Amino acid sequence: MKDCQLTIPSVIYSGQGTSGKVAEIIQREQAKSVLLFTGKDIRKNGLTKTVEEICQQVNLRVVDDLAAEPSVADVERTIQAAGGKVDLIIAIGGGSVMDAAKLASIIIGADYTLQDLLQDSSRAVKQMKTVMIPTTCGTGSEATCNAIVAIPELETKKGIVSDCMIPDYVLLDVDMIARLPAPILAATAVDALAHVVECYTSKKATVLSDTYALMGAQKIFHNIRKAYKNPEDLEAKLELMVGAFYGGVAITGSGTTAVHALSYPLGGKYHIPHGVSNAILFAHVMAFNKRGCAERLARLCDVVYPKQAGTSVDERADYIIADIANVVQETQIPVSLEKFGVKHEEIDFLVESGSQQTRLLVNNCLELSKADIRSLYEKLF
Ligand SMILES: [Zn+2]
Repeated sequence: MKDCQLTIPSVIYSGQGTSGKVAEIIQREQAKSVLLFTGKDIRKNGLTKTVEEICQQVNLRVVDDLAAEPSVADVERTIQAAGGKVDLIIAIGGGSVMDAAKLASIIIGADYTLQDLLQDSSRAVKQMKTVMIPTTCGTGSEATCNAIVAIPELETKKGIVSDCMIPDYVLLDVDMIARLPAPILAATAVDALAHVVECYTSKKATVLSDTYALMGAQKIFHNIRKAYKNPEDLEAKLELMVGAFYGGVAITGSGTTAVHALSYPLGGKYHIPHGVSNAILFAHVMAFNKRGCAERLARLCDVVYPKQAGTSVDERADYIIADIANVVQETQIPVSLEKFGVKHEEIDFLVESGSQQTRLLVNNCLELSKADIRSLYEKLF
């Protein structure tokens, strides 16, 4: 038994049209000024309409020009342009938008910079409360204490971690993903699935993170194929959103492992979307990890697929690994690295860069040597 702690957002709404709850939040916080982080496409698709209308009663500033997969410089520029402190920060978007809003909430008005936090995130202090409204069902950023930024000079990504970034309000509104293109839904939901499975098998897993990881796994395994095949199935989509949120909570309490670690160089250098690079690695890494976490995979199987009870630990672990591969296949996520322009001769870079992701590799149930990492990347060609 080990002592553990978990910080989660204070108020969570889930359902259809819940982004309208921003009106109550503004009142509750007595906010007179709001900074809205979002994206131009998200605005064009009308997803910010309700919130922008509600915010007519306050002083509203909108930031919608953050670069995709933003670098440290991009985030610094955006935060600089956002101006001074406000009463409330709202984010409507995917992981990058929410991460930038979370960083803004600890940087605007503070006496340290983003660069300082990259060196030492323990300096962070929350400056403003945040409201997160995700428009995908994957990153879990609406729950986590992490913000990921690209480091172009090192061709990789880095996470800044601080409990001060845990959002205050989360609005899971299925209307936000009702028209999400199927390939994006698939990739982001597989990312969420990786969060729960990795967190459950992580060395840092605790009794608190386990609950969220298991419940998240149950929701995502049972709904990802349904939501992909039938875009009208809003119930399945809301289950995915809640599952992804649970995945975010699990990340805060535990931590992702080798799937995410080895995925970062693929995103950092070749710009493979985060969910896709995780999907490419997911089943291979779990198959490698099996001898270190077979018990855990079997217990996960007991919760998600109770009908498998009675089979051996080995069989139940294999069942989950095979189901992960099946999810990736049925949601038609492209798994060929060559399609993304990654050539076999670049494997040395991948091994070197992947092995430097020590923040996450230390969580992996098995230690990975450089030879292990090489053999995992070899499987992708
Ligand atoms: Zn992820």
